[in-house]
Amino acid sequence: MQLNDPLIKILRLTEAQKKALKKLHLTSVSDVLYHFPARYVSSTGDGVIQTTAPGDMASVVGVISKTKARKAWKSRIPMTEATLKDASGSLHLLWLHQPYISKMFPEGSAVVVTGKIKEKDGKRSMINPEITRVKTGGFGGPTSRNLEVGPPNRNNLFNTTPNSDIPLLPVYPESRGVTSRWFFYTIQKILADDVVNTAHDPIPKDILKKYNLPALGTALVWMHAPKNETDARAARKRFAFQEIFFIQLKKQQERHFTDSLPTWDIRPSQESINEFLAKFPFTPTSAQSKALTDIFNDFAGTRAMSRLLEGDVGSGKTFVAAATSFAVVTTRPPKMVSTGPALPKKSDLQKQAGRVEGKQDFGNLQVALMAPTEILATQHFESFIELYRGLPINVALITSSGCKKFPSKVNPNSWTDISRAQLLKWVANGEIPILIGTHALIQKTVEFKHLAYVIIDEQHRFGTKQRMTLARKDEKIPHLLSMTATPIPRTLALTIYGDLDLTLLDVMPPGRKPIVTKIATPRERKAVYEHIRTEVQSGRQAYIICPRIDAPDENDEMALQAKSVEEETKHLSRDVFPEFRIASLHGKMLSSKKESVMADFVSGAINILVATSVVEVGVNVPNATIIIIEGAERFGLSQLHQIRGRVLRSTHQAHCYLFTESKSQSTLDRLKVLAEAANGFELAEHDLALRGAGGLVGHKQWGVSDVGMEALQNIKMVEAARNEAKALVSRDPELSGFPLLQSALTERGEVHFE
Ligand code: ADP
Ligand code: MG
Repeated sequence: MQLNDPLIKILRLTEAQKKALKKLHLTSVSDVLYHFPARYVSSTGDGVIQTTAPGDMASVVGVISKTKARKAWKSRIPMTEATLKDASGSLHLLWLHQPYISKMFPEGSAVVVTGKIKEKDGKRSMINPEITRVKTGGFGGPTSRNLEVGPPNRNNLFNTTPNSDIPLLPVYPESRGVTSRWFFYTIQKILADDVVNTAHDPIPKDILKKYNLPALGTALVWMHAPKNETDARAARKRFAFQEIFFIQLKKQQERHFTDSLPTWDIRPSQESINEFLAKFPFTPTSAQSKALTDIFNDFAGTRAMSRLLEGDVGSGKTFVAAATSFAVVTTRPPKMVSTGPALPKKSDLQKQAGRVEGKQDFGNLQVALMAPTEILATQHFESFIELYRGLPINVALITSSGCKKFPSKVNPNSWTDISRAQLLKWVANGEIPILIGTHALIQKTVEFKHLAYVIIDEQHRFGTKQRMTLARKDEKIPHLLSMTATPIPRTLALTIYGDLDLTLLDVMPPGRKPIVTKIATPRERKAVYEHIRTEVQSGRQAYIICPRIDAPDENDEMALQAKSVEEETKHLSRDVFPEFRIASLHGKMLSSKKESVMADFVSGAINILVATSVVEVGVNVPNATIIIIEGAERFGLSQLHQIRGRVLRSTHQAHCYLFTESKSQSTLDRLKVLAEAANGFELAEHDLALRGAGGLVGHKQWGVSDVGMEALQNIKMVEAARNEAKALVSRDPELSGFPLLQSALTERGEVHFE
């Protein structure tokens, strides 16, 4: 057997298995070895059914004591019901649409089930759990006296007492067609061969030694067939380190590369900046001043800025973007590149020619600002108009639905529609120095004359490639400012933004009233609705956030209790607020439809917007003053914070009501933190500590594997991976002395821009 042998060569696979493996991108022996267990179970003797908390994901080893296939009373859905027993108690199991399970696992079967623990009237249950048969005796299997287990919470993959020498049974993430059991037996078979010992370790030996990490072959064995918890932990630590180290290597290589490219040396005069700042009725916050200093320092010199500006909604990021853009667009391109003498460029020649002909010359440096959606791009455009009012500087907007330019020739206080061709021409000749837009900005047809500064909003996957694409016509790389209000913990920021320097906007501008946040009980619902009625009657607007989009399907019992956007919209417009205009917004709608609903909400044509958490992304409707979040216990704290940020912008007092059905004290305590925390980043740290990486906003979108996410709990490990990667790349940028690392990085592939 070889590591790169295709699975079909060493195993007999059914068509369904082939399909499922393909979907999981598992084709070779080595791929399967990297399909890591999601958790481990073993027998502790005391049973765990009673010790797990409702809401936990748990794996429980036990014996099926009763089983029955039947049809649901009303819907006639076929189902299996069973009871699982361990030493601590019993667990009710229910599978919908799977009547055959009763035949596959008759009474007396020893199994491990994995799913979410629920509790009603003191009875514990799991709906549609994964189920795998376990052998009695042998590998962690149950004995008559000794049946139990399951990880107590998301932060703990193990159910054993630390260092106990009890064999662990790995439980694998499943997908339709390949069960955890299949993975277990397949991997045991692979491990029985000597093939893991042929794996070459890409991580340099001195690094392994320094952090006491097991070598690759050992780690693979310990991951899949640990003798004890200590071994399994060591293996997971190694792969978590490896994942972060690889990400950091790529980021550091990118950074090294952009640092080596010539850029624009921009040194704005203090005078002109003061002049710009003096236009405003407020002074920058201390955090904003620090941000301006950081950015102006980066602008000067030979290396392009690569910086992240992280700050809650309303902390004044757009203002920083506008002030620094002003410094750029009032700068003429220097004749020399600071890294050395540059050849005269065509643009310089044209400029000279232009002067000869006596035409107006628009040769200043340019700025591109890119936002993820049309609404956000439009709002940035409007903010810039506000901030640039009275200045002789053109600002334009490009989206897929058209182009606009400010100021209009007719009305200097307003914008005008222009054709795409016109816009492209004016961007190319420099007449438009500031271009704001969506992805339309990075289309091939958009060519700048002297693009010196790129600002991107909420797009962590905007990489070096996109930056180069934007600058394609110039040989110089533009400075980059990436802005985000997405609350993520420091470890995640260090990882996914590993190539960027960080500036925090952690001071809010004065005078904004904090949101009044209240946890509301079902009995208070009426009063809350009356509050909405008064607000809307006085001309304000409201958001109602629901955890689901549409009516739940009967497979998902969890969802049965959660309010859905569609049902709630119907109910509210019919029974509660017949006098108001109510619309829904959610992620399954076409983006054109979403944009138009949002536009109607922005214009005030809609009074109440019933939505899923899609409104998280920073759309600004200052007239919205009240927000209700249904099923608040289903969201992470940082996500709740981001959602309530929608009503932060108003000069009126804003209110946020959190409805929860949960009576659990820990849930209520968690929600209480929200009322007190200073900012979203603090809340993200809470989420990480309380709920694990899975509780973070958009945890699926960061491109970090589950095992890599485990590293995020450990700031020391993340810093170590970053420092080692930095050191390695500064010594050997191409990693030419580390061919194994090189090929491991290539195999990881590019992170694609969405
Ligand atoms: P962000 O982009 O971080 O959400 P903005 O830059 O849009 O925040 O600022 C939010 C609001 O606060 C805007 O109306 C802006 O004009 C105002 N603002 C920005 N900085 C200050 C400040 N230092 N003092 C008072 N108001 C400010
Ligand atoms: Mg903003």
